[in-house]
Amino acid sequence: MRRLKIVRILHRFNDKGQEIDKEGKPIKKKVDIKRLVKLAKPEWGILAGGSCGLLVSSAAQTAAPLFFGAVVDAAQKSMDELTSTVLTLLVIYIVYAIFAVIRAWLFTLAGQRLVARLRKHLFNHIIQQDVAFFDTNRTGELCNRLASDTQVVQNAATVNVSMLVRYTLQMVGSLVLMFYLNAALTGVLLAVVPIVSIVAVQYGKFVKKMRQKFQDRLADAGTLAEENISSIRTVRSFAGENKASSLYGDEIQKSYEVGKKLAVAYGAFEGLVGLLAYGAIAMVLWYGGKLVYDNTHGENTGLTPGVLTSFLLYTLQVAMAFALMSALYGDFMQAVGASIRIFDLLDRIPDVPTENGDVLYQLDGRVEFQHVYFNYPSRPETKVLKDITFTVEPGEMVALVGPSGGGKSTIVNLIERFYDPDSGKILLGDVDLKTLDPQWFRKKIAMVGQEPTLFASSIKDNIAYGCSATDYQIEEVAKEANAHEFISTFEEGYNTLVGERGVRLSGGQKQRIAIARALIMNPVLLLLDEATSALDAESEHLVQEAVDRAMKGRTFIVIAHRLSTVRNATKVVVIDKGEIAEMGTHDDLIAKNGVYKRLVLRQLTAGSFHESLD
Ligand code: ADP
Repeated sequence: MRRLKIVRILHRFNDKGQEIDKEGKPIKKKVDIKRLVKLAKPEWGILAGGSCGLLVSSAAQTAAPLFFGAVVDAAQKSMDELTSTVLTLLVIYIVYAIFAVIRAWLFTLAGQRLVARLRKHLFNHIIQQDVAFFDTNRTGELCNRLASDTQVVQNAATVNVSMLVRYTLQMVGSLVLMFYLNAALTGVLLAVVPIVSIVAVQYGKFVKKMRQKFQDRLADAGTLAEENISSIRTVRSFAGENKASSLYGDEIQKSYEVGKKLAVAYGAFEGLVGLLAYGAIAMVLWYGGKLVYDNTHGENTGLTPGVLTSFLLYTLQVAMAFALMSALYGDFMQAVGASIRIFDLLDRIPDVPTENGDVLYQLDGRVEFQHVYFNYPSRPETKVLKDITFTVEPGEMVALVGPSGGGKSTIVNLIERFYDPDSGKILLGDVDLKTLDPQWFRKKIAMVGQEPTLFASSIKDNIAYGCSATDYQIEEVAKEANAHEFISTFEEGYNTLVGERGVRLSGGQKQRIAIARALIMNPVLLLLDEATSALDAESEHLVQEAVDRAMKGRTFIVIAHRLSTVRNATKVVVIDKGEIAEMGTHDDLIAKNGVYKRLVLRQLTAGSFHESLD
């Protein structure tokens, strides 16, 4: 039963975005065409309008070559006939232009509406997924699905369908008219076309494989570049610039070697297919010319120079429609892949929902772990928490301590219900966390991480991220969090932009904003991951003061790295290798002379706990 659950969580993808099985082979999936069509359902009205435009414009386009030929013949008869035929041709083109506008506008509009709807829907679905999902799906890949997969599907469901219909109509219409103009000549053409297309298709496949190889090499180079650029600090500190350049150079050289062959293949393709295609046209031209010659020399072949002109134009129209249709095939295949990936995402039901569940009348900060066992779904083989049982009473301050990798953050993650335990229970108040509405209880719990993330917006918006608040409230919590003073030094105060394009804040400043962001929620339970990296003394003092103020009257669980914090705790829980090694007050545990004391002594010498132990 458990295994099944794990398999459902894990979707792995290769570089091409195909879902892969345990051995890394792509999983073949059926395409749900019906669903793809349904996706465009709200746009059917607009698409119907676009189709009208398409039918009329295609009919006009198909009729035009007939009149081209008529112009050539009329020029040999009289000026009047020539003028009236050209005017008719002009009317046909005006009709074409009007309906082509309708066609292009409505199909593109339908596509834009579809892609906007799909993106909103997909993002909403992604953001609702459980945290385990984000452990196994890379951000870049998910953003790619939002940006490019949706675009590809949009094109396939609207514009490409319109092109497919258009080219089919154009091809069939032209062929019918060609038969009507001269069956024998059409017969000659149809005899040579399959030869040209078979050669073109086969050679095309070969070129495509080579192009794929080229893309793969390029993707390898891309990964390497991304890794080195995003880790520039490490590269710089190890003086690794030359090494990075040489590695990237090697990868690019490999892609260039394939690229060189690809250039020859492209050239040969153009030449070969061109030769065959123009050879076919030359044959038609010769045979057609012969029929015109016979016609003017007594034999009634029905082929005037005008008819031959029309015929040649139709030949070009058919050839063009055929070439564009084969390009469409590639687009559709791409869309099939993209739609599978999108539907997969849309079908994924999060293991931990973000809403629905009970809402309690009152919540105190009590937390209880009852025999909790847990593995991360992305690494099911590693046991992370084993039989964790402890209670945090309302108003208590509990410090989680222990060696790095022991499982302290995991405990905090479970209180936030980022993941569900494999067995055992976590109670909030006296109620199983699993029965509570996550959106509701998460607003009662606030978390301040080690390196808080601020969004790329104003300080004000960052503080009021979890709720709507007045400027006065924002300022009050900022004062409480010791942030008001430094915010006031900025020219734009609370409207100062932070994040990537905003001002750079120090670690201590970020933490104080994060504390303000937590305080504004007025949480009953505060979770804090103390910073391990040393802040400067002034900053540390200000952060500490803010934390002390924040914890007053609240239940407080802290992943502690400072001796002063542990000393103040009403209970210290020592987590080692996923188990509770010891539990009690600082004094009790020191007296016990066990793991905790050893840990404190070791950390003191390692410099993590700054103060002296007495
Ligand atoms: P601590 O907070 O005590 O340093 P953690 O709770 O972060 O320890 O980690 C406990 C174990 O769980 C470690 O072995 C770590 O590698 C693993 N772990 C932590 N986060 C994840 C995750 N998102 N996915 C998989 N394994 C994880």
